[in-house]
Amino acid sequence: MQREKSFFREEDYYMDFTEVNNLIEEVENTLEETKKFDKEDDLLVGVDLGTAYIVLVVLDKDKKPIACEMEFAQVLKDGLVVDYIGACEIVNKLKDKLEKRLNIELNKAAIAVPPGTEEGDCETHKYVVESSGLEVTTILDEPTAANAVLNIDNGVIVDIGGGTTGLSIIRDGKVIHTVDEATGGTHLSLVISGSYKVTFEEAEKLKKDKKRQGEIFNIVRPVIEKIGSIVRRNISNYDVENIYLVGGTCCLEGIENVIEKETKIPTHKPLNPFLVTPLGIAMNCEA
Ligand code: ATP
Repeated sequence: MQREKSFFREEDYYMDFTEVNNLIEEVENTLEETKKFDKEDDLLVGVDLGTAYIVLVVLDKDKKPIACEMEFAQVLKDGLVVDYIGACEIVNKLKDKLEKRLNIELNKAAIAVPPGTEEGDCETHKYVVESSGLEVTTILDEPTAANAVLNIDNGVIVDIGGGTTGLSIIRDGKVIHTVDEATGGTHLSLVISGSYKVTFEEAEKLKKDKKRQGEIFNIVRPVIEKIGSIVRRNISNYDVENIYLVGGTCCLEGIENVIEKETKIPTHKPLNPFLVTPLGIAMNCEA
């Protein structure tokens, strides 16, 4: 899909994601392949409890990816744990799988929550992860986790996940404003499910099928336009020159064009926006 660039100069698009893309690719590879590490070292673990996926990323002490496991799960809604037992079971299972692959016990983890999560709900996230025997060393917010990978000084990080779209305005490397609104990939799947008269699970599969994404894109375009309007409305009082997309829904090819058209702001995304936040969470684990 061609970018619709008419209102920008070429240099507005310059954003070097090479390092980020290489790092994310390394994490992707560790879904299948376990990397070598020194068993004497403490490993860093990040647990991302999402509305659509639970992801565990393991890094070595130098923050190099070692192993990663994930599972589709519907145990959270809008960032809140709605099926506590189910969430604990999945985290336990993923941790067990990692420990078998690594042949070592994992002890510590960092977790992240959507911006503005109440203290009680943060505690629930923590209890879920602690139920697996991991000590939670750090609780951070999701945009801060994403920016540990992207290293943006100024702009807005837009995290389009399963249940929500989160915006974090970054100035001089610090998050100065955050918003989370309830539209995300789940809504895209609901529209696909209605259009094709298939179950939600089948719609999820269709949405991720690269061969079908061209045809599906037109069906979900209005939802993406709505997400674009959410971004435009929430940044209107800030001087934002660049938009950076993360979150699983941003894997859709061409989503950046629609967001850019709605906001009229140069919009960038790394090759795999899905793993940015889980990696950033692990990078914040204290050994
Ligand atoms: P939230 O941030 O709302 O709590 P989450 O953390 O589970 O949810 P992510 O894991 O970032 O969110 O993204 C999950 C969403 O991304 C789901 O709706 C999923 O269907 C969608 N998704 C994942 N991979 C793809 C893909 N290749 N193409 C399109 N959508 C995808």
